[in-house]
Amino acid sequence: MFYYEIVCCSCRQKFRVYEGSLKYKLYKERTNKVFHCEDCNSKIRMDAIKNFFRYLN
Ligand SMILES: [Zn+2]
Repeated sequence: MFYYEIVCCSCRQKFRVYEGSLKYKLYKERTNKVFHCEDCNSKIRMDAIKNFFRYLN
């Protein structure tokens, strides 16, 4: 299986994106220059959800 090793722009940890995933495609096509690992991705998603609910209240 092909993959790229990308450095997460948030925690600076290396992580892999595997062929067939959306990130792999984005990286290959250089559409997106900023990448987050899964951990940071879920943190960002959680923060967004929290902010969303804060906004509603
Ligand atoms: Zn990260």
